[in-house]
Formats: sequence, structure tokens, C-alpha cells
Amino acid sequence: MGRRRRRRKIIRRVPKIPSVFQCPNCGANTLLIDIIKDKEKKTRKAVIRCASCGLYYEMELESDIMDKAYAYGLFIDKFYSGEVPVPEEE
Ligand SMILES: [Zn+2]
Repeated sequence: MGRRRRRRKIIRRVPKIPSVFQCPNCGANTLLIDIIKDKEKKTRKAVIRCASCGLYYEMELESDIMDKAYAYGLFIDKFYSGEVPVPEEE
């Protein structure tokens, strides 16, 4: 009695997805990601925008498993490979 039940480590927990992400351009935590579904074309796209510096990017999501966190990761990759147009200052 009194034996503790071993808690199984849940790996596939639903992660808490933050509503804002850190912007790779200006460093502020004001990067918003929206997943937009197109019912006609049956496609999904991520719209990424930063409220601080005006960074804006859209990309198609090829799979349903791609959530905001996934889109953010892809976006970061694209940003650092120069595929994301950076808003001009001044
Ligand atoms: Zn920014």
C-alpha cells in the first residue's frame, strides 16, 4: 500500500503553443503566426508577421501536422537562409 504509481512519461503531450514567438529580425516577442485554411483549395498556410518591425511572410504548409511551432521553426530556417524579405528600416 501507499506505493506510488509510476507516472509514465508522456511524450506526445499536447504542447502549449505560445501565441507569440520571438522575431528573428528584431528580437521582440511580437511575432504572430496564424494558420489559415483554404477550404476550397484544401491547403493551409502560415501567415507570420511581427508587430514590432513589420516582418511579414506567408508559407504553404504541406501537412496537417504542421502547427504554429512547426511553422515557426520553418520560418526561422528560411529567415536565416535569406528567403524571408526583411522590412527596410528608414
Ligand atoms: Zn520583428
